Amino acid sequence: MSFSIHGVGVSNGIAIGHAHLVSHALLEVVHYQVPENLIEQEVARFDQAINTVKLDLETVKSQLPNKSPAELAAFINTHLMILNDHTLAEDPKLTIKNEHCNAEWALKQQMENIVEQFDQIEDEYLRERKHDVVQVVERIIKVLLGRPSQVPVLEQEKAIILVAHDISPADAIQFKHHQFAAFVTDVGGATSHTAILARSLNIPSIVALQRARTLIRDGELLIIDGTQGVVIVNPDKDTLAEYKLKQEQWQIEQQKLKRIKLTKAVTLDGTTIDLYANIEVPDDVVQVKASGASGIGLYRTEFLFMNRREAPNEQEQFEAYKAVAEAMDGKPVTIRTLDLGADKQMNADTERSCTNPALGLRAIRLCLAEPQMFHIQLRALLRASAFGNIKILIPMLSSLTELRQTLLLIERAKQSLRLEKAEFNNDIEVGGMIEIPAAALCAEAFAKELDFLSIGTNDLIQYSLAIDRTDDSVSHLYNPLHPAILQLIEITLKAGKKLGKKVSVCGEMAGDSKLTRLLLGLGLRQFSMHPSHILSVKHQVLQSDLVKLVPTARKILSSHDSDKIEPLIQKMNL
Ligand code: PEP
Ligand code: MG
Repeated sequence: MSFSIHGVGVSNGIAIGHAHLVSHALLEVVHYQVPENLIEQEVARFDQAINTVKLDLETVKSQLPNKSPAELAAFINTHLMILNDHTLAEDPKLTIKNEHCNAEWALKQQMENIVEQFDQIEDEYLRERKHDVVQVVERIIKVLLGRPSQVPVLEQEKAIILVAHDISPADAIQFKHHQFAAFVTDVGGATSHTAILARSLNIPSIVALQRARTLIRDGELLIIDGTQGVVIVNPDKDTLAEYKLKQEQWQIEQQKLKRIKLTKAVTLDGTTIDLYANIEVPDDVVQVKASGASGIGLYRTEFLFMNRREAPNEQEQFEAYKAVAEAMDGKPVTIRTLDLGADKQMNADTERSCTNPALGLRAIRLCLAEPQMFHIQLRALLRASAFGNIKILIPMLSSLTELRQTLLLIERAKQSLRLEKAEFNNDIEVGGMIEIPAAALCAEAFAKELDFLSIGTNDLIQYSLAIDRTDDSVSHLYNPLHPAILQLIEITLKAGKKLGKKVSVCGEMAGDSKLTRLLLGLGLRQFSMHPSHILSVKHQVLQSDLVKLVPTARKILSSHDSDKIEPLIQKMNL
């Protein structure tokens, strides 16, 4: 049966492929009593599931391509060992017999016992092996629930669409190494870090679909329209043909845009605009160069710290920053210091210990609370500055005290390098992110002590409108065109202009080509966005006349009614 589900499109384009449900089976296990006369049958059902998973894993192992990394085979062997262990393969059967419960429940109970024992192990590496146990149990439970994976792991080449309840930024960053055609999730906001990563993966993605994971089955054919935020499940022949055509048209449009890659971003009245790129990992530089960006306006270094047990040491960080600086060949590379915390945890399993992580110990607050970790990053950054045009960007500033403490720590890192006679750029520029309303209101004071400002609209909107950017239930209230947001942007731009300091926008607003003219009209001259948006924003810049835009932007700014702003922007874009 064909049907469609609507959500929030976070990365444009059309994908057609088969669903792969990201396991969430553990959450679906229910407890029920099994009558005495059916106990043997329940035990047999359990045995059968274990055998099915064993066979699955053996098949996957035998199909491993010759050049696949050794860890992959070792990983499957570990899972087979866990599966063969009596604590998992035998003990749940006793629970079924003694407690007359269903097989899934017995297995889940046993898994919790094993995980508890792992948690008591002191050695961190061994302790972490509990995740392998959980993964094996997930596989067995999927079989018991009648939903074994119909997509063999190793055939997941192209045209696989991930369907998940949620994907953490730590998971999403790992997708960079795989070729998925699209991904969709039940929850999430349009400017959550997961959505930002979706954009950086350059694949169509939709969040906030509510029940995609329960409505879609493994292996089903899906059309993902990332632009409209629609998933079509089991499309009929005509719909499929229509979307194949749309997909081709989309690709042709993208090709056409490539013609302006080398064109300078200059408005019709002759004003030069800087279009910079945002990156998450050093490999993204390839895409940055292909986009024709004039530099990197935001390098989110926290992704270097994710999916690992220990933070990268100074040398590893230095090499990552140096590689980006060298690859950019003298063009500006704005490296943001660690913005960990809130939804960006080092490890996906890290517990959120505070009640309101977005308002908690994140970004610069965390760095000031962990000066040793910060010192290592600053030294790495400074050392890398000898190899290119690196600038430092500080996230989440809320007060001048924080700024001054940070500047002091930068000076201390410089001093330590001087003592070692290590090379670095002593005049390295230091900028601050304006992403807390308090900082925007005091932008002039920040601009006095910094070399440049960069407006993080994602957080600025979150904090000004009190809307959790990761929470889909309030995503309809997340409004970049709220008069308060436009005024905060204007205050910051004005402060920069007054003090002769450059101001950029590096939040998602900068990459939305529908907002390019408004931002130009407000006075923005530096935009930083995901590389895949550079050409569509440049296309707008090339057709914009600031003389005409400024009066409309002023009119928009004086309006306190969001509903009146929308039509004015549409008019601006004609
Ligand atoms: C922002 O908040 O707009 C921003 C660019 O930073 P991040 O999205 O990484 O929080
Ligand atoms: Mg931010």
